[in-house]
Amino acid sequence: MRTITHWINGAAVAGDQSIDVVNPATDRAVATVSMADTATVETAIASGLKAFDAWAATPQSRRAHVLFRARQLLLDNRDELAAMISEEHGKTLDDAAGEITRAVDSIELACGGPALAAGSTSLQSGPNIDTKSVLHPLGVCVGITPFNFPAMMGLMMLSVALSAGNSFVWKPSEQDPGVSVRIAELFREAGLPDGVLNVVHGGVEVSQQLIDSPDTEAVSFVGSSDVAQAIYSRAADAGKRVQAFGGAKNHMIVMPDADLDVTADQLTAAAFGAAGQRCMAISVAVVVGPSAEPLLEKLTGRAEAVVLGSGQTAGVEVGPVVSRRSQERVQQVIRDSIAAGARAVVDRSAETVAGFEEGYFVGPTILADVDATSPAYTEELFAPVLVVLRVDTLDEALELIRTHRYGNGASIFTQNGAAANEFERRVSAGMVGVNVAIPVPVAAYAVQGWKASAFGDTGLNNASWSFYTRPKYVTSRWESVGGQDFGFNPN
Ligand code: NAD
Repeated sequence: MRTITHWINGAAVAGDQSIDVVNPATDRAVATVSMADTATVETAIASGLKAFDAWAATPQSRRAHVLFRARQLLLDNRDELAAMISEEHGKTLDDAAGEITRAVDSIELACGGPALAAGSTSLQSGPNIDTKSVLHPLGVCVGITPFNFPAMMGLMMLSVALSAGNSFVWKPSEQDPGVSVRIAELFREAGLPDGVLNVVHGGVEVSQQLIDSPDTEAVSFVGSSDVAQAIYSRAADAGKRVQAFGGAKNHMIVMPDADLDVTADQLTAAAFGAAGQRCMAISVAVVVGPSAEPLLEKLTGRAEAVVLGSGQTAGVEVGPVVSRRSQERVQQVIRDSIAAGARAVVDRSAETVAGFEEGYFVGPTILADVDATSPAYTEELFAPVLVVLRVDTLDEALELIRTHRYGNGASIFTQNGAAANEFERRVSAGMVGVNVAIPVPVAAYAVQGWKASAFGDTGLNNASWSFYTRPKYVTSRWESVGGQDFGFNPN
């Protein structure tokens, strides 16, 4: 079994307390992870604070060089990182490798720090007066991340934070923490000075200590909405900058003119891929007009053909969900929904996998005729469960999205430009797809939801330069005074 330690001041630090990290495909422990006590969290913050001044004073281009090298090291070690993610999270090896590739996109963005974190100057904003804005790093920034992207979410935050000159304390999910420490080791190998990036493990108390500490300046959080809202309030009370991204229930609108084969292919991948445990997974299809039954027919064959199993087995397309608790909750919601009148078009929710009988598997499941007030529709299940609703008009479909609690992503499948345009203009979601099922923007844009999917007003990736820096506006006037003559007349 592996031992996962904290990472503080450029070195592994073990703790007295630890918990098991379990492979969701087998229900067996694959590692133990140290859980931080208050003294360990204090040491991590102190280490970030001590390293901050020198890192902030390091020329931007040198900070970018470290990121360039870290990017290469992540790519060189992608297979090892993917294996660790797959073992602790349950996702397939291909999917885990894809996560590293997406994370590299964020590092590449952050390598542009020297240009992207530049301020601006206005010459002659008054008589002999110039006005400029300069961007300062904040200090020790905190990142609290979810289990579903154990590498990518942390890297999305810390790449920009470090490039802008901050130090960072990362608290990953205790469910799959291994890759965070390996990433910190690779950043050290890339030349990151000790103390600039620290990792501490733990749950609620560790998060709260990081938020409450007088020595941390900003909190970035990604996780479920109730926790996001609580963290948003707590950090704001403590006078911190905070961005807190929450859960999702992403809708795909299928217009009557959509190509049903293409739509069914995309929907299958978006609803069931990664066992539905992506914040941008599609969990609701809203079919406008008469194509619901033909679409369901096409989806049925595809959902039944999905290969369920351990993410580490070649050929498997969908792995387990992350925990027994999640498996049992989702299975209960499905049972309740069917008892309340929903039609189980495909129900593989209780399927077991030969050789992995103890795994937390939930097979692809499609529910139609679901009541819009039932938990199967209103709640985020974070599992490979697709709810299919039917409506008569695009207006009704948009109204469903507008009145839903979440507003992370939404997409439309159509061949009609006017319908696509209307959708794009009116839809109440932060990340929007037109004939793209999972419209996660590239790092040059932002990850940003609406409504209960995000608290705070700055997105991740390119939108986070303003979050990780504070501006200073300098107004200056230089005139020749006291009769000094330097050979020019500024007046
Ligand atoms: P979670 O909210 O249970 O945990 C997220 C992190 O917060 C973990 O590090 C956890 O240890 C910590 N935590 C849990 N409860 C806490 C509390 N009360 N106070 C302080 N910290 C606490 O989320 P999860 O189950 O790990 O991740 C899945 C969720 O993340 C889903 O809701 C998913 O939609 C969401 N997510 C959102 C995005 C996005 O961009 N909006 C991206 C990825 C995941």
